[in-house]
Amino acid sequence: MRIDNLLKEKERLLSFEFFPPKKQENERVLFETIEKLKVYNPDFVSVTYGAGGSTRDKTLNWTKVIKDEYNLNVMMHLTCIAATKKKITDIAEVLINNNIKNVLALRGDIPKDEEFDEIENELKHANELVELLSAYDKFSIGVAGYPEGHAEAKSIEEDINNLKRKVDAGADFIITQLFFNNKYFFNYLELLEKNNINVPVIAGIMPITNINQVLRFTQMCAVSVPKNIIEKMNGKSAEYMLKTGVDYAVKQCEELIENDVRGLHFYTLNKSVATEEILTQLTL
Ligand code: FAD
Repeated sequence: MRIDNLLKEKERLLSFEFFPPKKQENERVLFETIEKLKVYNPDFVSVTYGAGGSTRDKTLNWTKVIKDEYNLNVMMHLTCIAATKKKITDIAEVLINNNIKNVLALRGDIPKDEEFDEIENELKHANELVELLSAYDKFSIGVAGYPEGHAEAKSIEEDINNLKRKVDAGADFIITQLFFNNKYFFNYLELLEKNNINVPVIAGIMPITNINQVLRFTQMCAVSVPKNIIEKMNGKSAEYMLKTGVDYAVKQCEELIENDVRGLHFYTLNKSVATEEILTQLTL
């Protein structure tokens, strides 16, 4: 089912994000995770896409398997960095032929290696990908939003102007980068309203289960981690970090729900434990 239609019908959506495992032995883990999280009746689940098309076939395969074998509503991520228009239109045709109706249209991170081929890079920003996909009139299109601003943007205002280009090009909804302080999300919603960006915003939630891993990741994408969590988790056992991270995420989600958030999108990292623990404690 199209996510834009679901957002019209339902007050709030629940979704899970997975990535295609690189190693075969990790595929079993993902199958088990999907089995366990399916019980929570997600409105959709999404599969990430390696920038530059590095996971194209795997992403497509996992999206199809989750849709056909698990009977779940799916959204495929698609990045346009280092891709020709032809490559993108080929993928769009595959999606249409496989009845995959939801796409998260992204630019992707600019590859750091020399293999990055500027000539192949026909679509420079996600708004151009949205425009290309919208022309099919077959997809519900989501785009990424950054409550703390995108790492490359000079200011949050500049980033929101660029977000507006994506919405004006036909995006139906926004899924945010993870954030740990709801203050950023609420300020962001206000700024979007001021800028006449009126599509629903789904909050990206990542339970912290390993503080060092989260600090490494958040440094790369300009997301701040509250000092009190870092201090609380530093040097503690895996069990303690899981419990603290779950408690924190439950409080964060409760406050978002109280403030009528349109959706919670869990970055599961292909693991179910933390997300399950959180969902058993929430009334959605
Ligand atoms: P854009 O919207 O193109 O923005 C990138 C930068 O350029 C921003 O600073 C923006 O302000 C600026 N900008 C945008 N449009 C213009 C314009 N027309 N002119 C000038 N400047 C402009 N990455 C992956 O590789 N695979 C994934 O599956 C994936 N999934 C994600 C899911 C979510 C929910 C989120 C939030 C991010 C995801 N990412 C993924 C990461 C994303 O690809 C990176 O954050 C990337 O650096 C930016 O992608 P974007 O679509 O936001 O790009």
